[in-house]
Amino acid sequence: MPQGKIAIIGTGFVGAATAYSCLMRNIASELILVDVNETLCKGQALDLSDALSFSDTPYIKVGSYADAAQADIIIITAGQAQIPGQSRTELLATNKTIISDICTKLTLLNKNAVIVMVTNPVDIMTRLAQKLLDLPMQQVIGSGTMLDSQRLRNLIAQKIQVAEQSIHAYVIGEHGDSQVAALSCARIAGVPLTQFIPLQELEKLARKAQQKVYEILTYKKYTNYGVASCVAALCQNILFDNNRIIPVSCYLKQYDLCMSMPTTIGKGGAQQIITVPLSPNELDRLQASAQTIRENLQLII
Ligand code: NAD
Repeated sequence: MPQGKIAIIGTGFVGAATAYSCLMRNIASELILVDVNETLCKGQALDLSDALSFSDTPYIKVGSYADAAQADIIIITAGQAQIPGQSRTELLATNKTIISDICTKLTLLNKNAVIVMVTNPVDIMTRLAQKLLDLPMQQVIGSGTMLDSQRLRNLIAQKIQVAEQSIHAYVIGEHGDSQVAALSCARIAGVPLTQFIPLQELEKLARKAQQKVYEILTYKKYTNYGVASCVAALCQNILFDNNRIIPVSCYLKQYDLCMSMPTTIGKGGAQQIITVPLSPNELDRLQASAQTIRENLQLII
């Protein structure tokens, strides 16, 4: 049964794929699309309306910012995309302007809305939105390393023929080059993952997962299906108040910034943030990851 209204701001490759993923999950009572490019937005809404016959979602429409502000979940996918050879941090200045513009227009927000930031660099843009929007910080989250964690689990699953859902392994920190695979605390049925795959090999898989984005960009110049699937699943967990643990970008008090940690996700957004036990090396790398984010944040906030 569809549970609530979802607005998607930015209907390019990621926004359109996210809308489609949400439709196929039957989670929204209405989908509202917003984009500065009105022609594209109309085209996406019309094209996606053909998929309504195969979904429990009854409506999709081009909306205004006032419509979007009343939604239960507002997904932000507007922004310039990463181009081959460009780091996520290079997107910073352009996307800061775009996210600031959107936050300014989201007046009279539904006080219970959850904002899901997808625009890169996602940890920075999530923190920027937290600062600009009049909402509790736990209601403003970023898709973060949910995708990176899925990529890692998928590689592990292929290697040892255990279903992804039974592999408890998280990528934490920045959604970017400084991300950290928390391998020392990864488990299958309570057994350390290192008993299934030697640490050196696991580290290779983690590097492969981290590099996958660049491989995709080389071939098709953008990525959309993976992140869209993650965001739709995230929305399902929010709307159905599931309290599933998902690594999302959320405010971490001890670092005074947003980055990903495994967090219970429900109607109020990020609820309990789990502090995962790390090896000394992983902790050093997490602190370095936080420092990377901090330096970029200082450029814009
Ligand atoms: P795209 O260029 O296809 O789409 C971006 C859309 O944003 C365009 O339709 C554009 O008109 C719109 N837009 C720009 N400024 C706007 C504004 N002020 N208000 C409303 N709409 C505006 O790009 P894409 O491939 O869909 O990527 C979108 C963003 O998602 C990029 O920042 C990209 O880096 C990011 N992304 C994030 C992840 C992740 O895992 N977090 C993965 C892939 C892409």
